[in-house]
Amino acid sequence: MPHTLLLATRNKGKIEEFRRILDAVAPGEIDLVGLENFPDLHDVVEDGKTFEENALKKAREMCLATGIPAIADDSGLCVDFLGGDPGIFSARWAGEHGNDVENTKKVLEQLRDVPEDKRTAHFTCVAALYLPDGRSHCEEAEFHGSILFSPVGEHGFGYDPIFQPDGYLVSSAQMSAEEKDAISHRGKSLRAIAPHVITLLRSLG
Ligand code: IMP
Repeated sequence: MPHTLLLATRNKGKIEEFRRILDAVAPGEIDLVGLENFPDLHDVVEDGKTFEENALKKAREMCLATGIPAIADDSGLCVDFLGGDPGIFSARWAGEHGNDVENTKKVLEQLRDVPEDKRTAHFTCVAALYLPDGRSHCEEAEFHGSILFSPVGEHGFGYDPIFQPDGYLVSSAQMSAEEKDAISHRGKSLRAIAPHVITLLRSLG
């Protein structure tokens, strides 16, 4: 019997990506479901002070609400010149009703006269697993690069059009999903947590 695992997201792309990662580690052992199966669940308020607090809170609340082991992630862009901002505020950097375009514009504005060598940044992602018996596990990963002077590229989301990964001459919005997953903060944290997910779910019997 496969173990059911809830991924706390409504994003089909994230579910497919993590399903591929889990299947590579333990084929057919985990039945990954997303929040679309639980339309009544309310969104978790992300009021933690760190990526880890927010990821763990999302996983814990979704697990306790459904009784199913749950995994969640929290991520954001940390710009060195801005002291690590927007960080956990990445999704709402231009305000509660901000969007990707406005958030990106705000970061470009804040770095307007900052030279290339001072535009270093990284994305961070924490993946968190929470089990009904209270056990949990987190994995954090980073994706390093620098902030461009203007947006370029059509793929991805969020700050991808202004983020150039170290060692590449394109923005992460010019990469295919597979290319980005192989080196991204989210891909790395999900691949790191996958074996722990398998071990912990097996321990439930
Ligand atoms: P979350 O959904 O609470 O994890 O918020 C993540 C926010 O950080 C997104 O809304 C984006 O603004 C930003 N972000 C995180 N990961 C990425 C990425 O891979 N590319 C671009 N932006 C990202």
